Amino acid sequence: MTNPFVQFQADVEAVTERCARGEISEAERDAAVRQMKLVDPQWGDTWMLSPKGQWFRQATGSKQWMPDYPLDLVDAASLPPVPQMDLPQISLAVHHCTRCPLHSGRTRAVPGEGNPRTDMMFIGEGPGFHEDRQARPFVGASGKFLEQLLTDIGYRRQEVFIANVVKCRPPNNRDPQPEELDACRDYLERQIELIDPKVIVTLGRFSMARYFPGASISKIHGQPKREGNRLIVPMFHPAAALRNPAWRTAIIDDFSKLPALVAEAAAFRAEKDEPGAPAADQLNLF
Ligand code: SF4
Repeated sequence: MTNPFVQFQADVEAVTERCARGEISEAERDAAVRQMKLVDPQWGDTWMLSPKGQWFRQATGSKQWMPDYPLDLVDAASLPPVPQMDLPQISLAVHHCTRCPLHSGRTRAVPGEGNPRTDMMFIGEGPGFHEDRQARPFVGASGKFLEQLLTDIGYRRQEVFIANVVKCRPPNNRDPQPEELDACRDYLERQIELIDPKVIVTLGRFSMARYFPGASISKIHGQPKREGNRLIVPMFHPAAALRNPAWRTAIIDDFSKLPALVAEAAAFRAEKDEPGAPAADQLNLF
């Protein structure tokens, strides 16, 4: 039996070929492709392929369409070592990972989601209850707050990449343990390497500790540190900021600095590539 994702991809390609043969216009092709949807038989997520060939997933219980890739289309038989994986291969590996005890309590792993060619990457701690069910990072109240913070600086959630330091939910939302952080580390490192964001924003203690060991978030929040060709900016976790009015004010203020920090990082990257060249415009795929 043909895999439904393979069949769906073929159906979309057939519409595109009709357009190429002049049987339908580009507008008709785009409309037809946007109406084509596939419901994942295992999880109930809805999938679509954009006219440009980009996969999007709408998780069960969510209204948002996020860039993603169906794991059914990843060749599970030939996964390379993590440092050589691409993003879909990392997702597949994470969904099947049993490296640490967190695998035994998860409903679904949460590899991370968003624009793989973004300027900004946000790194949180670990999935909570809703994240564990939707296989998405930052849903629920903290996710809505994060989206509002992004909107306030002119970004949509789909334009950034969001991941966590551990990809499976710790029981009762407890802190991730050192051995769990170590076990999960190379997935995140490979994601950062592939996405190569100009700015990384750490959200909360555990992602901050990757770059600012021993530091206190209340002392260093919002203060960028240059690491190689990018800036690392520590911030309060949105869930914590929702509980503390002073931290809420702080995270709003820290977010307001991000566009200028992206421009600063773009400028020093451009300077390195081509001394004296202007900074590249922000890449926006959506
Ligand atoms: S938390 Fe990370 S290392 Fe642990 S099982 Fe999940 S994906 Fe694997």
